[in-house]
Amino acid sequence: MSYFRAVDPFPLESPEQTRLAAFYAGLADGRLTTTRCTGCDRTAWPPRLFCPECGADGVEWVDLPREGTVHGFTVQETGLPAGFPAPRVFAIVTVGGHRIFTVLLDADPARVAVGQPVRFVPLAIDPDSKGNPRWLPAFTPSA
Ligand SMILES: [Zn+2]
Repeated sequence: MSYFRAVDPFPLESPEQTRLAAFYAGLADGRLTTTRCTGCDRTAWPPRLFCPECGADGVEWVDLPREGTVHGFTVQETGLPAGFPAPRVFAIVTVGGHRIFTVLLDADPARVAVGQPVRFVPLAIDPDSKGNPRWLPAFTPSA
């Protein structure tokens, strides 16, 4: 996938750029992780360095399940940034009680359905301007 750097839509993921670098390092390692509050034990999505439930700022990184189901989806056929092939299936996937906005890879738009089982696949995207590798969470149909 390529794109114009002037309109780079992706997050900056290195430890110098974000305190959530552990999340992106997990993706690079093939793991879907998030934060769990050490005070009330709740997990958050997206990962946060404070607990949105109890306000504590003690969190630990935990793995989420690799399997999920499609909660909802849409298909974008036009207007995608340069370098993004169409059609592109965007979905909200339910994983471990969380709803994750994501892209469905290798998904036939005519066959995607609510409730469809999907599995996590880390998606390598273009490196940042300093050449650091970058990853995003993605999913693909399980069957
Ligand atoms: Zn908490």
